[in-house]
Amino acid sequence: MADDSRRVRDLERPFDVTAIRRDFPILEQRVHGKPLVYLDNAATTHKPQAVLETVRRYYVEDNANVRRGVHALGERATNAYAAARETVRRFLNAPDPDEVVFVRGATEGINLVAQTYGRAHVGAGDEILLSEMEHHSNIVPWQILAGEKGARVRAIPITDAGEMRLDEYERLLNGRTRIVAVTHVSNVLGTVNPVAEIVRIAKSRGIPVLIDGAQAVAHMPVDVQALGCDFYTFSGHKIFGPTGAGVLYGRRALLEAMPVYQGGGGMIGQVTFERTTYAQLPNKFEAGTPNIAGAIGLAAALDYVTAIGLDRIASYERELLAHGTETMAQVPGLRLTGTARSKAAILSFVLGDVHPHDIGTILDRAGVAIRAGHHCCQPLMARLGVSATARASLALYNTRDEIDALVGALRDVRKVFA
Ligand code: PMP
Repeated sequence: MADDSRRVRDLERPFDVTAIRRDFPILEQRVHGKPLVYLDNAATTHKPQAVLETVRRYYVEDNANVRRGVHALGERATNAYAAARETVRRFLNAPDPDEVVFVRGATEGINLVAQTYGRAHVGAGDEILLSEMEHHSNIVPWQILAGEKGARVRAIPITDAGEMRLDEYERLLNGRTRIVAVTHVSNVLGTVNPVAEIVRIAKSRGIPVLIDGAQAVAHMPVDVQALGCDFYTFSGHKIFGPTGAGVLYGRRALLEAMPVYQGGGGMIGQVTFERTTYAQLPNKFEAGTPNIAGAIGLAAALDYVTAIGLDRIASYERELLAHGTETMAQVPGLRLTGTARSKAAILSFVLGDVHPHDIGTILDRAGVAIRAGHHCCQPLMARLGVSATARASLALYNTRDEIDALVGALRDVRKVFA
C-alpha cells in the first residue's frame, strides 16, 4: 500500500527530460554538423555523470583487489563491491544478495546457466524451449548444449504482430522440456512478453524459466519475486552502466545445486592437487578478479534510474513510443515490424525496398543514429520474411523533437530513392 502511494506520487512528478539530458554529456555533440539524435539505445546506452564519476572515484581513491585484502584500500574495494551486489538485489527485489552473480553481461549469464544448470539437467532427447523472437545470445548457448547432449531446441511461434503464441507455448511444453528461456522484451519488435504468465505455466509443470532481461530493465520495473522466474539476466551497458558488467539472478536452491562454471581464484574453498572444494554463493560462480569498477558503476546506474523512477521512465517512454508510432506511420512506404499490444519503445521498420543499411547511412548524415541489420535475430528475420530491418530504439533521454528529426530524415530518404 505504502509502495503504491509512493508510485502514484512518483508518477505525478513532472518528467524533466531537459535536466536528464544534462546528466549525459555525450548527447551534447554534433555529428556531421547536426545535433546528435541517438536512437540506438537497444544496442547500448549512454552513461550519466553519476556513473562516470563513481567509476572515476573508485579508481582514483579505492582501487584494490577484492575479497582477501588486509589493507584499507582492499577493504574499501571489497565493501563497495558487496554494496553493489546489494544494490542489484534491491533493484530486482531478489530475496538475497547471494542470489546475485556478477557476469560480463546477458550473454555470459545465459552461457553460465546453459553450461551449469543445463549440463546437469539436459540429456539426450530432452528439449529446451525458446521463442522465435530470441536474440542469438539466447539461442546459440542452448544449441551448443543441445549439440553436446543430443537434446533439441524448440521455438515458440509468434504472431505477425510479434506476440508470443501462448496456446502454442502450452502445446510445446511436454515431459521432455527441461528449461524455458525467453526474452522479457524483444530487441527487434519491442514486444513486452507476458513473462509472469509464461513462468506460471512452466512452473505448474515443474519446469524452470530463464528470462533474458537485456531489453527490459532500463524501461520498466522488474521484480523477480513477482515474476517467479528461476533465472533473470541483464547487461549493465544497456541500463546506463559500463560495458563488461552484468547480472545473473538465480534462485538460491538452483544456484547451490548447480555445478561450477569457470574455475580459478575466488571460487574455491580448499585446493589440493587431488581435489578442490568450492566457495559458497555467490563466489562459487565468480572465478578470478571480477569487474569491480564495472559492478560499482552498474550499481550507480541502477541508483540513477531508481531515483528517477522506473514507472515514470516507462510512462514517459510510452508517450514517445505513441508519438513515434503515429508519425512514422505517415512516412510513405514505411512499415513497422512489431505492433504488439504491449510494447517497449523500440521502432523497427522497413521503408519500401530501400536497404536498411542505406537508411542508416543517410540518417547518420542527418545526425540521427539508428541501427540496421538482423539485430542478432536471424531466425526472427526469417520469420518476418525480411533480411534486415532499420531500428530506432529509445531511452529516457530522448525527446519528441528527436523523433520528429528522425521522421524528417526518413522523408528525405524517400526523396533520395524516389
Ligand atoms: N538479449 C537481448 C534481447 C539483447 O538485445 C542483447 C543485446 N543486444 C543481448 C541479449 C546480449 O547482451 P550483451 O551483448 O550485452 O551480452
